[in-house]
Amino acid sequence: MNGRLASYKRIVIKIGSALLVDRATGLKRAWLTSLARDIAALRAAGHEVLAVSSGAIALGRTVLDLPQGSLKLEESQAAAAIGQIALSRAWSEALDTEGILTGQVLVTIDDTEARRRYLNARATIGALLRLGSVPVINENDTVATGEIRYGDNDRLAARVATMMNADLLVLLSDVDGLYTASPHSDPSARRIPTVEVITPEIEAMAGAAASELSRGGMRTKIEAGKIAVQAGTAMMIASGLFEHPLRTLDDGGACTVFRPSSAPVSAWKSWIAGQLEPAGTLTVDAGAHAALRTGKSLLPAGVRQVGGRFQRGDTIAVILQDTGREIARGLAGYDSDEARKIAGRKTGEIEAILGYAPRAAMIHRDDMVVGP
Ligand code: GLU
Repeated sequence: MNGRLASYKRIVIKIGSALLVDRATGLKRAWLTSLARDIAALRAAGHEVLAVSSGAIALGRTVLDLPQGSLKLEESQAAAAIGQIALSRAWSEALDTEGILTGQVLVTIDDTEARRRYLNARATIGALLRLGSVPVINENDTVATGEIRYGDNDRLAARVATMMNADLLVLLSDVDGLYTASPHSDPSARRIPTVEVITPEIEAMAGAAASELSRGGMRTKIEAGKIAVQAGTAMMIASGLFEHPLRTLDDGGACTVFRPSSAPVSAWKSWIAGQLEPAGTLTVDAGAHAALRTGKSLLPAGVRQVGGRFQRGDTIAVILQDTGREIARGLAGYDSDEARKIAGRKTGEIEAILGYAPRAAMIHRDDMVVGP
């Protein structure tokens, strides 16, 4: 894998239901095997890979032999419960053949939209990557209902990609890109190779079509694109209808590339910097300030004083003891009560003070904007 995908280190791959599940015969095992081989090749070339896999409801329906047409909510949730366990097993077996561990992550919308939960989800998925596994992520369809769900995995995948600072999101689907019009009904429709900016014209091209098995159509893919590119993650829409879809994509196969609008980190950090009033302050010494300026995280040892009441995940300001000036802003790694207990303490002492294994930092460098 040293072609088109070579420059993207962390890659999220979203797999649509129609690729994994055949209404009549169930799971498309040979296809999944070929995808697992592609994932192994990417990892061997130094990439980190996360999968967002649909297919729970579709697979559950097939296992239960439920009739075509729409299901009642509790039926589709029951189908998801039965399908998800089969889906996870299929992923785990396919990746295990390549010597890769699988970690199943089921998320609800709060896990990416509420900051505290977001930090937890991100820490867990980050740990799964560090441990060398491929996280396989889906919405927790058995409990998510109505307005508390994503509903489609295109946007879920985009949220996961931006949450994890991924360099690239690949949406594998039953179409090989965005077309100027529906390729099924308009012979003059042509595929757009690159989208520099998602304009209203681009959005208008998406229409609303969805295939029978999946919830998203081109519209949710464009919405996913908006989420991704704003945060600095590139996106590709490519076909997964053939085996080895990632190898094909890497070799230059058909797709639509959505260019990211800026560097990955800066969009996330500008979101932090743009937060309204900080909920509290951490006053630090000159040594900690020097460390922050070289891009380090803020450790408890460097904190002299904790001001205000805040919760883990709230935006807080970092104040320089000598001048009282705000030198940085970031997301709190600890609640203010905990922060007070561990301020000034060495990392090694913290577990004994708090009674549980400490987090990486008071403010992690990925969650902090340091001023000039
Ligand atoms: N989470 C759903 C499932 O696994 C799929 C949602 C979608 O099709 O985008 O069945």
